[in-house]
Amino acid sequence: MKKIINHLIQLQELCFAYSEQEVLQAKDHLEQLQQSIHSLENGLPEDLSAIFKKVSNHYKLAIVPMIKGVCRGCGVRLPISMAQEVEQAEKIFQCPNCARIIYPYEGDKVKFKLHKDKPDIIKLGVMRFSSVRLMKPSLGANTKEEAIGELAKLMVTQGFIEESKEFLEQALNREAMASTAVGSDLAFPHVRGVEGGGLTFAIGLKKNGIKFGATDRTLSRIIFFIIIPAAASSFYLTLLSGLIQSFRNPEVRKSMINSATDKEMWLKLIKFTKDKIK
Ligand SMILES: [Zn+2]
Repeated sequence: MKKIINHLIQLQELCFAYSEQEVLQAKDHLEQLQQSIHSLENGLPEDLSAIFKKVSNHYKLAIVPMIKGVCRGCGVRLPISMAQEVEQAEKIFQCPNCARIIYPYEGDKVKFKLHKDKPDIIKLGVMRFSSVRLMKPSLGANTKEEAIGELAKLMVTQGFIEESKEFLEQALNREAMASTAVGSDLAFPHVRGVEGGGLTFAIGLKKNGIKFGATDRTLSRIIFFIIIPAAASSFYLTLLSGLIQSFRNPEVRKSMINSATDKEMWLKLIKFTKDKIK
């Protein structure tokens, strides 16, 4: 049964990546993802494939972990006997409240630290998701691996995550599914499904650009590295879309790329996103 659960999780990751690529407007990757989705769907038992499709029509995430007896999708506590059966993972269960498919959570290697960044300040818009301490005006990196690694390390030194290796690995796995680069300067490498913490991103600039696998072969100069808690998965697509709209204007991108300090980047980020990210 574990194999089927992994199969479903993988299928869901692909479906989610598909939604992301739609937001990123990376049309070339869509067909390739659609094919992978079909082949995974075909590998499932028919009844399960039907359940997955039905639940997917209602929710962005059709399969969610059960953590300490609670469905991660809707937050409802499962009956004890059912929770025990879910733990055993001998068959597939759906949450009696929301109908999402549930699987036993086996602990995450990647964990957020709870960070408290001047809690007395009321944060608005993009300020809720980042910090001046997560702005890096000149990345030393020359490859996407190095760039993601550098931003993950920045998050560690600034106390947002505990260690960077696992985050780097997961972000690269996601890049392997389909690049998160959007033509003209932008890339959005990310890690999804971590437990705890809040949606958080760091930005690194590379004036000469880095090859991130954009379909039009343009280089990425503004790299957003995003950590997405399981609970914020759907909201993340809204943030992503807000960031893309804010940086669609070439003048805006140019201004950001030419930032000299973290403070300058931060103030520009707030200014440029003020209408698109509320
Ligand atoms: Zn539920």
